[in-house]
Amino acid sequence: MKDVSYNCCTKPNYILIKKFSKPPKNEPIYKVNLYKRFLYKCIACGHFINKSNINFNKIYQKDYSNISHGKDLKNKLLKIMSLKSKSDNYHRVRRIIKFLDIHSKEKIEVLDVGSGFGIFPIALKKIKPKWSITAIEPDRENVNFIKDFDINIKKSFIENFTTTNKFDFISLNKVVEHLVNPSRVLIKISKFLKKNGIIYIEVPDADNAYKNKLKFNREEFFADHHHIFSKKSLVNIAKETGYKAKIVKQIKEPSNKYTIYTFLKKELYEK
Ligand SMILES: [Zn+2]
Repeated sequence: MKDVSYNCCTKPNYILIKKFSKPPKNEPIYKVNLYKRFLYKCIACGHFINKSNINFNKIYQKDYSNISHGKDLKNKLLKIMSLKSKSDNYHRVRRIIKFLDIHSKEKIEVLDVGSGFGIFPIALKKIKPKWSITAIEPDRENVNFIKDFDINIKKSFIENFTTTNKFDFISLNKVVEHLVNPSRVLIKISKFLKKNGIIYIEVPDADNAYKNKLKFNREEFFADHHHIFSKKSLVNIAKETGYKAKIVKQIKEPSNKYTIYTFLKKELYEK
């Protein structure tokens, strides 16, 4: 397919698997004159790519918070916190702390990339008040909301973000699938990581979402996801960008989402 090229695996082989002329049920409503979207699948590794005429760059700075979370962020935060173990974030925070408590010293420096309205860094800070947490997020509503918490918040896209700080831990929760060029970002953030630092990536799971009867009507395949990773393509991008996967797991979250998460370490050699 001439307009799709991405090194998801050693032998990328893309086919057009679905054309959309209207959004699937439950997809957020994005302002676009004539909805047009093409979904491609690599038949070698199970990676998917969405191509649409929606300008997400603009949306992520201004409207994404409203579209995804509504106006009342405080209420949304309290609601998710009150769900406890029935929320996805509850388990995310705990699996990360469990991993880092084994592998890291007591006080650590965290960079959370693409924090949304801050549910992850806010919950993490509550349990680990000594940890220093920096969050970067492009949406101004989200940024203003996170300012009320003890978190160092920067308004930026990761693509434009610079820092001289080095971090023990960098998290990308449901972020990598939104990036047009995920490899470039993974290479970039490895420069922000301390020598023995850990990266945590969480993405929608194409393998299991594809097997589900709702298939392309599921949110894993929605238009805002440029890339929908299979276990194979996620492991491959980690390897190609200079990391070694310590753990890779496919899970079904309390919210019903199929998700893959991985903890990565920098390989000793630089690519
Ligand atoms: Zn592939």
